[in-house]
Amino acid sequence: MHKNFKGVEKTVYGRGAFSQLGPIVEERRGENDHFMLFLVDNYFKGKDLERRIPAQPDDIVQFIDVDPEEPTTKQVDGIRDSVMASMGIPSAVIGIGGGSIMDIAKAVSLMFTNEGSSVKYQGLNLIKKPGIYHIGVPTISGTGAEVSMTAVLTGPEKKLGLKCEWTVFNQIVLDPELIASVPRDKWFYAGMDTYIHCIESRDGILNNAYSTAYGNQALDLCREIYLGDKAGQTPENDDKLMVASLMGGLSLTYSEVGIVHALSYGLSKILGSKHCISNCIAFQHLGDYYPQGVAEFNEMIRKNNIVLPRNLAKGWSEETITAMANVSIKLEHMWNHAIGTDWKSKVTLDTVKDLFRRL
Ligand code: NAD
Ligand code: ZN
Repeated sequence: MHKNFKGVEKTVYGRGAFSQLGPIVEERRGENDHFMLFLVDNYFKGKDLERRIPAQPDDIVQFIDVDPEEPTTKQVDGIRDSVMASMGIPSAVIGIGGGSIMDIAKAVSLMFTNEGSSVKYQGLNLIKKPGIYHIGVPTISGTGAEVSMTAVLTGPEKKLGLKCEWTVFNQIVLDPELIASVPRDKWFYAGMDTYIHCIESRDGILNNAYSTAYGNQALDLCREIYLGDKAGQTPENDDKLMVASLMGGLSLTYSEVGIVHALSYGLSKILGSKHCISNCIAFQHLGDYYPQGVAEFNEMIRKNNIVLPRNLAKGWSEETITAMANVSIKLEHMWNHAIGTDWKSKVTLDTVKDLFRRL
């Protein structure tokens, strides 16, 4: 069976596109209890963008600090419960921020119509009903969360997405001006998430012409942004990065991620390390699995004067390494894609523990 994916319904792209959010939102105001829920990265509190949020007096604008931890099931349930108790069901949820805010917005949209805790729905196609209208406005580019059909949440047991076709945004607003303020290190790590998506999607058994076409476009854009004569954080490169992120996301949607993401999930779940930097921490040591990709990645590191953490494993107990390896090896679809259908004869828990010892 081939995957049957749903895409984002509407996309507006271009400098200044954020100013179109107002009319887009107003088209929805007749739905549900006639108010909007804006979920906004706390970074924008007090910044010019706060003033530009097209909220009416009865709308909710909730700022969220995404730095303490990646989105959790508890956080999503809490937002849904408090909004329902005070105002009812919004006409739309609008997430303005990076992968964290966009995933919270996607998940909250689904939880307004699906009863109980989001913990119940962590997995593939467990959601029972479509969510409410949801709009994504990325302010940092790389994860591809703006186009993906998953909302990654950390729950009491697992870090796993609410994954189904209703998770996908109804509308996205891609305005490269919004990513200009991203600090350089985060700009690099998030862009490398795109790069790694494309390498992992390409170097595995589920690779196909569809995923390769998107992946190659995104890889070329990453090369211009991080290696070219005009490399660096410029408006021209921000225009490109926003498109690369989207295409990298589509590439992996039609294929799969691999060992880097399998290890990264272990780091995030057990140590709370952030997704994009975790990928970079793992990728640098996986030259035997992704020779061409890691060589080019190392060039990008040098060119952009990035110093990645190394020798972390020295500080980890055997227990921590085992816990991370257990999270990682359960992501069977990633190992299957990267190594092949006979992966279980080649990769054991000890193999994965050894990979963590490299970091
Ligand atoms: P993020 O949303 O976690 O934000 C990273 C940092 O950048 C934060 O400190 C934030 O405040 C800051 N920031 C965001 N925009 C800014 C701006 N314009 N100026 C200054 N600072 C800004 O970043 P992310 O890396 O995009 O997202 C990571 C999350 O995405 C993780 O929770 C991960 O699990 C998830 N993820 C989801 C998918 C998916 O398909 N749904 C894919 C990959 C990762
Ligand atoms: Zn990723």
